[in-house]
Amino acid sequence: MRSLLSSHPSLTSKFRALITATTTRSFYTMSTPTTFTHCVPADQPNGSKDVDDATWRTKLSAHEYFILREKGTDARHGPLDKVFAPGDYFCAGCGTHLYTAGMKYDCGCGWPGFWDCVPGVVREQPDKDGRRTEIVCNLCNSHLGHVFRGEGFTNPPPNERHCVNDTAVKFVPAESK
Ligand SMILES: [Zn+2]
Repeated sequence: MRSLLSSHPSLTSKFRALITATTTRSFYTMSTPTTFTHCVPADQPNGSKDVDDATWRTKLSAHEYFILREKGTDARHGPLDKVFAPGDYFCAGCGTHLYTAGMKYDCGCGWPGFWDCVPGVVREQPDKDGRRTEIVCNLCNSHLGHVFRGEGFTNPPPNERHCVNDTAVKFVPAESK
């Protein structure tokens, strides 16, 4: 790699520019609250569809409860990872429309990936691990996954990667005509 770069000065400069741009974008995203996004900031929770814990335990399966309410993580390569059919994705906890199929892309991480969300229904907040950004349904506060930015994908703005658990969303295919 080093010899390849040193023998191609133009490639080296492009590579450096890419690294610089990526680094700058990441820093900007983390430090500036005005970054373009359709996510709701952590200090503007809705929570209007949240219910008490006993009701969640009745409403959800044990695995759904683990993912949605205990912030668990599905195994990779679940049933929705490679689904790109037309349709819509709804919160598995409260039924809120979160994503459209047009927002989904093959991000390659093993979990369903979306580059945007329906405005105002996905809230982002610092993860307890101190480094990632958690995303939850803004209406029922259920854990969806995490959002990542500045990774070099070429989707339209906001060009995010919403890394979402299969269990956190219900896919409803578009009606066949
Ligand atoms: Zn919800």
